[in-house]
Amino acid sequence: MEEIKRAAAPHAMLFPFPCSGHINPTLKLGELLHSRGVRVTFVNTEHNHERLLRRSALRGREGFRFESVPDGLENADRRAPDKTVRLYLSLRRSCRAPLVALARRLVPRVTCVVLSGLVSFALGVAEELAVPSFVLWGTSACGFLCTLRLRQLRQRGYTPLKDESYLTNGYLDTPIDWITGMPPVRLGDISSFVRTVDPTSFALRVEEEEANSCAKAQGLILNTFDELEPDVLDALRDEFPRVYTIGPLAAAMHLRVNPGPSAGLSLWEEDASCMAWLDARQAGSVLYVSFGSLAVLSLSQLAEFAWGLAGTQRPFLWVVRPGLVAGDRGMEALPSDFLEETENRRLIVEWCAQEQVLRHPAVGGFLTHSGWNSTTESIWAGVPMVCAPGFADQYINSRYVCGEEEWGIGLRLDEQLRREQVAAHVEELMGEGSKKGEEMKRNAAKWKARAEAATAPGGSAHENLERLFEVLRLDEESDAEHGRR
Ligand code: UDP
Repeated sequence: MEEIKRAAAPHAMLFPFPCSGHINPTLKLGELLHSRGVRVTFVNTEHNHERLLRRSALRGREGFRFESVPDGLENADRRAPDKTVRLYLSLRRSCRAPLVALARRLVPRVTCVVLSGLVSFALGVAEELAVPSFVLWGTSACGFLCTLRLRQLRQRGYTPLKDESYLTNGYLDTPIDWITGMPPVRLGDISSFVRTVDPTSFALRVEEEEANSCAKAQGLILNTFDELEPDVLDALRDEFPRVYTIGPLAAAMHLRVNPGPSAGLSLWEEDASCMAWLDARQAGSVLYVSFGSLAVLSLSQLAEFAWGLAGTQRPFLWVVRPGLVAGDRGMEALPSDFLEETENRRLIVEWCAQEQVLRHPAVGGFLTHSGWNSTTESIWAGVPMVCAPGFADQYINSRYVCGEEEWGIGLRLDEQLRREQVAAHVEELMGEGSKKGEEMKRNAAKWKARAEAATAPGGSAHENLERLFEVLRLDEESDAEHGRR
């Protein structure tokens, strides 16, 4: 029966940029598509594929398979400080032909290509195959809009910065009040990419180009929901006729996919001891700390966070993945006196099942880098945040998280990290009797309920996902009519 149903089903080839922040949401989308009868081929790079195979983390099944293509990198590139840039360039240079060849080998034929951000070169793959393409841009809608507007910021002369002094002389506080769909924000809130003096800044151009390329796709898929970012989405829908807001993906998965397959292709081993440790803690007492899969802290930033955490006197669970600390270091870089001082009230792990951790009743706050996946997972879990943004859209995400007129569920740390402020913000967020803390908790509960309602049957994200399924089916049917099967 399964085989008969899928024989006539659309077949989506999914290809995310090869890092956790892109793989995880793309995989969730794949699971959701599969749950509605779409065939899914999920393509990793060979490097990640082998890494996942070693840990038996790949579980293909009927209608859902994993494939891989080479990323073209030399081993030395993988440890280079600019490894992500190298990966980006290498994929662009060498990956199109293997993807086309792979798609042509697949049976039944691929009927659409779904990409994450940063792999816009693969829009050409869909063109070559003559199938529609969709981009799951992994940031918030406000993050996407800001990235689109990097071009206007440059044209209006806001960027690049005149010289290094503009990083600290207050220039980044310049109000930007002309982006339709957004409240007035500071220039520095827009993105990390405005922090450059280089007129040819690679990151700035790449982001600009990648976001603007989405216009070439048949549909833009966002891991957000209409009630969370209504004005931004109205503005985006004027430019992009097909926008599918289907988030939070974590919530949609939870509701619709049964029995829970892997929530993410974790590139690191999840430490299972966290849950038992959390079970032994009081409700709402634990601060969860994680800076995602890519952030790299300097030794001095690490020390400010560590001593800030020590200063709170609260229990905390801190993810210190290998490579979090500059020089490709991890836990071993933590100061030993900090470890001694906090011994009885902390757990430090390399990686954890973050969604489960955030939804554990013991967790009452999240010190985060404000990556979009982490932010949506926290919203869905109803956990307020202390934000320490450092890269790309993390700045605008934290602006919305902390804005009292926007979501009102967090406090932001200054760019110049200070341990006293880390401790003070955590206390304000989680401490008993903090008026602001109580308000943030109330708001977090409100947004949690809205996220759940959006992804439940009849909710906006649920209905948009249905529309997406429908479009995939229609595209497939019209293909079949034109004899392109
Ligand atoms: N994550 C996880 N375990 C950890 C830390 C992070 O599973 O110990 C996941 C997290 O749930 C999220 C992703 O890694 O889905 C990080 O994505 P995000 O967009 O927040 O940040 P990025 O890694 O792209 O900077």
